[in-house]
Amino acid sequence: MKTIGIIGGMSWESTVTYYQIINETIRNICGGLHSAKILMYSVDFDEIEKYQSSGLWNLCSKAMTDAALILEKGGADFIVIGANTMHKCVEDMGKHLSIPILHIADATIARLKEQEISKVILLGTKYTMCQDFYKSRIINAGIEVMIPEDYEIEMVNRIIYDELCKGIIREDSREILTAITEKLAHKGGQGLILGCTELDLLIGEHDVSVPVFDTTMIHAQEAAFLAIKE
Ligand code: GLU
Repeated sequence: MKTIGIIGGMSWESTVTYYQIINETIRNICGGLHSAKILMYSVDFDEIEKYQSSGLWNLCSKAMTDAALILEKGGADFIVIGANTMHKCVEDMGKHLSIPILHIADATIARLKEQEISKVILLGTKYTMCQDFYKSRIINAGIEVMIPEDYEIEMVNRIIYDELCKGIIREDSREILTAITEKLAHKGGQGLILGCTELDLLIGEHDVSVPVFDTTMIHAQEAAFLAIKE
């Protein structure tokens, strides 16, 4: 079994989910007392968030690279970044690492293709929804990406950082995300990407009328599959 190197803490609310899903997946497949071999570097998210909101992406990349190198040195066979947003740093990280990074969008794209989704709604941080580093990967795979209107992007971003990353779950916020999704589904969105690893704490399949692609679940499952792949 390969050792998974997780960069966690972004936020730790979702890292808990990663740990659980990876281990459950390994147990379901391998049975008995089998569990995942995991090394984790969990960051202080306050530092990372300050770099993000100040546009200091070079410092984000440095923090992610330093963490990944520690995991590589410790014996990790591949890296899992437990957040969508920080995949903005993947290209920079790749220049310094000799082990691969399991990209969260690639795992998600494979599931979208399986269900023949050609137009998808993307919810995530404002960086993930507005910038190109994430969306372009999906678009290049031939899938159209729909994002909310500007004022809604601000609302979703606030729910993520001010509530979900602090473990706060609010019914009115769930209703906001549901309403945004339904509006875009009405305009042709065939599925919903939960493109932030905390969103599954608030919203799921039963809240919306379209299939949900939960990046935390998908990424964690793919990490487990890769760990046991021959
Ligand atoms: N976990 C979130 C994500 O998947 C947001 C926190 C962050 O900015 O890393 O994008």
